Amino acid sequence: MLFEKSKQNLKQINHNILQACQESGRPIGSVSLLAVTKNQPQQAIFPLLESGHRLFGENRVQEATKKWPSFRDEFPDISLHLIGPLQTNKVKEAMELFDVIETVDRPRLVLALAKEWQNPKRRTNQIFIQVNTGHESQKSGVYPEELGELVDLCRSHDLPLTGLMCIPPAQDDPAFHFQMLADLAKQYHLLDISMGMSQDYPIAIAHGATEIRIGSALWKNNN
Ligand SMILES: *Cc1c(COP(=O)(O)O)cnc(C)c1O
Repeated sequence: MLFEKSKQNLKQINHNILQACQESGRPIGSVSLLAVTKNQPQQAIFPLLESGHRLFGENRVQEATKKWPSFRDEFPDISLHLIGPLQTNKVKEAMELFDVIETVDRPRLVLALAKEWQNPKRRTNQIFIQVNTGHESQKSGVYPEELGELVDLCRSHDLPLTGLMCIPPAQDDPAFHFQMLADLAKQYHLLDISMGMSQDYPIAIAHGATEIRIGSALWKNNN
């Protein structure tokens, strides 16, 4: 049936997560699956909500604003994460829509978040910093050597910084980047580690991911 294959894919991925946890001696339940719904219509997302999944990620504020508020009425325990770049002029809107913003990557953005923090309609209650582990100039994320300063800035503004996120360079061995992110998280006492996508999530789990972000493997053969 149309849009039903994703439920089967979800089961398979959850099974693979379990296996990856066992193989690396990590507790079951130590990794959560963020279902990436960018470019997916509401009809495709609904079956996953019906099957009980509640953790979702979107790349763009504008797209998410159209798709998610109506779901929230029916499923109030949805947790929605922003995993794409955030412009400072969209900060207010993003903070009213997303539970977690994973892509904080520059001082100006930290200051904009801090300025809006008292907004009574704020939903965001956790932020992660995106780290550009591959020093790719075209990609978002703070360089590893500038991370300490950005962590300090978040903390000096009492922002609830709890994790790090990265997207390794496509051509590289991801293991190197996953290990770097896990080491940085440990160094700065951050517990949430968002890394690993459809192609490489078992490797990310072996290196300590607490959240993997899955798109294509979930939507495969779905319509
Ligand atoms: C699209 C996207 C994903 C999902 O990637 P897949 O390879 O389709 O699983 C994960 N993280 C980010 C930031 C993305 O933009």
